[in-house]
Amino acid sequence: MIPYGKQSISDEDINAVVEVLKSDFLTQGPIVEKFEKAIASYCNVKYAVSVSNATAALHLSCLALGLGRGKLAWTSPNTFVATSNAVLYTGAEVGFVDIDPISYNLSLENLKNRLSEAKSLGKLPDVLLPVHFSGQSCEMEEIHALSKEYGFQIIEDASHAVGAKYKNQPVGSCQYSDLTVFSFHPVKIITTGEGGLITTNRKDLYDLLIRLRSHGITRNSDLMTKETDGEWYYQQLELGYNYRLTEIQAALGLSQLKRLDEFVTRRNLIAERYHNLLKDFPITLPTLLTKNYSSYHLYVIRIDVSKFKKTHKQIFSDLRKNGIGVQLHYIPVHTQPYYQSLGFKFGDYPVSEKYYEEAISLPIYFGLKDAEQDKVVETLKDCLGL
Ligand SMILES: *Cc1c(COP(=O)(O)O)cnc(C)c1O
Repeated sequence: MIPYGKQSISDEDINAVVEVLKSDFLTQGPIVEKFEKAIASYCNVKYAVSVSNATAALHLSCLALGLGRGKLAWTSPNTFVATSNAVLYTGAEVGFVDIDPISYNLSLENLKNRLSEAKSLGKLPDVLLPVHFSGQSCEMEEIHALSKEYGFQIIEDASHAVGAKYKNQPVGSCQYSDLTVFSFHPVKIITTGEGGLITTNRKDLYDLLIRLRSHGITRNSDLMTKETDGEWYYQQLELGYNYRLTEIQAALGLSQLKRLDEFVTRRNLIAERYHNLLKDFPITLPTLLTKNYSSYHLYVIRIDVSKFKKTHKQIFSDLRKNGIGVQLHYIPVHTQPYYQSLGFKFGDYPVSEKYYEEAISLPIYFGLKDAEQDKVVETLKDCLGL
């Protein structure tokens, strides 16, 4: 089976991890700090806070921006459930903005309409979480302008977009947001096994995130409510968590980061090759907006089933039967039973529901060989009866 995504681990990666195992630090230590500094420098951003996974990163980001009971955040229905779950963890309410039919990111038009509607109802969101679907950035400059007009804060879910660029700036630079979240799950662009990270230019958020990932504890006497009792002393200032990354994970991440540009370049070449090989197929290929350099976490095609003799489900299953490990990103979050129990209904976000009926993610990852890609294309051709 050719999977839809796969990590690439080099001997250098393995050696970096082994070195840590022989060292004095296994939990958060100097390599974690080095990894954070390296990512911050890569992203042209002031601060980076690593955590145990992107779900934890989203959770802490929501908390840091003050989400909780009585607050509201909006995101895209075309995302992994983790994005909206993170909002719910805090006790806040979540809402969705339907997607754009071209980029599959949340639609700017829709956002504008929903905001002006929400304003007249007195129910504006406190936070927006745009998701850079497949590795293509949302239209952040416009979203940022809307955040100033309507007074909401922004968390970019860039789990797919490590190494991507928007208007020639690295995603994660936080030029148009308060916080950006990355995932280092093995199917993503670079991996730490499990891992996540938050970037920001705001010192206040950085200080808070550092505490929140470690039980809400500080050893900085400037922040304490009273004089220290002694050198052992620490204070817990907030209800935090144990969301730390290990040295073992950070060593892998730091080593992987060296190859990030190589990974993303290769993914772009694979995407370009798919474009050429599939351009005459009666299917919809991904579209990049001009301001974007995608990290191509995903290569999603859309199949208008009215043009074929098979259903979407049959085409998907035939591809799998023939060794192509396709996937579907994503089941619209609001259609999940749990979200239905919160009051969301089928039909609420029709563009994402229509997209779901047609989408298939083809294999794309650093190690995918041209011959394997040819096999994907040939198999797709057969399965579509072309
Ligand atoms: C993978 C992913 C997450 C969660 O990442 P983890 O590191 O597995 O917690 C969140 N949002 C999106 C869009 C993702 O793709």
